[in-house]
Amino acid sequence: MLYIGSHLSVSNGFMSMAREAMAMGANTFAFFTRNPRGGKSKDVDMKDVKEFNKYIKENNFGKLVAHAPYTLNPASATEKTRDFALKVMEEDIAKMELIPNNYYNFHPGSHVKQGLNLGTYLIADILNETLKKDMTTTVLLETMAGKGTEIGKNFEEIKIIIDKIKLNEKVGVCLDTCHISDGGYDIVNNLEGVLKEFDKIIGLEKLKALHINDSKNEIGSRKDRHEKIGMGYLGIETFRQIVNHPYLKTLPMILETPNDFSGYKKEIELLRSMEKNNI
Ligand code: FE
Ligand code: FE
Ligand code: ZN
Repeated sequence: MLYIGSHLSVSNGFMSMAREAMAMGANTFAFFTRNPRGGKSKDVDMKDVKEFNKYIKENNFGKLVAHAPYTLNPASATEKTRDFALKVMEEDIAKMELIPNNYYNFHPGSHVKQGLNLGTYLIADILNETLKKDMTTTVLLETMAGKGTEIGKNFEEIKIIIDKIKLNEKVGVCLDTCHISDGGYDIVNNLEGVLKEFDKIIGLEKLKALHINDSKNEIGSRKDRHEKIGMGYLGIETFRQIVNHPYLKTLPMILETPNDFSGYKKEIELLRSMEKNNI
């Protein structure tokens, strides 16, 4: 059974997301831990959380992949911005611990002309402050398209960060199919080769989740424009390979395609139908 879902709005609470996921045939999902542009997070209703934890267990959901706000930049040149990133991460992880054993994904950040070296230090610094031995949440670094000075556009950059983190076992990687294609990895013609490279540089066991997006642009474009599944440069066959890959098919797959509820429902159906022996 594949674990597939989409981004859902947290604004009506956890149970509302779980019901919406079920209605679209999903058994995992993503949500912003707060307004995607940053800002305050809502207070948590503990009754809702309790009911939710029970519900996702009973309905065999896979691991959820929460998403930190886009504006977070742990590699910023401004101390205030870095402090804000640290505060948000600490609060978000505390919230994630209320729904234990799930994933918290974030964009590593942009070094804004400070250089890759300092940028990766600053990102690792924040993680070294935030990660705690007894936490159940795993923090995921997302592979990025490489817009501007974005860090994480290749496996080497992600590895540099991971190597600087003390509680290494608390971090993993979320691979975004649109982003890695934008970053120059040819998953259309050589998915296995790309995964081998991931394994060689980072270690495949660190790959914990997938963002399943087609791309509006050609390989290497660094533009980060998601497209509906099968409608972009990656094409349907790439996704057929992904849902049938012995390792990838075990990971939570989150759709971030330009869709509404019925569009996601259809894409989930499509991906499930492409999995062989899916009876
Ligand atoms: Fe993302
Ligand atoms: Fe993504
Ligand atoms: Zn993206």
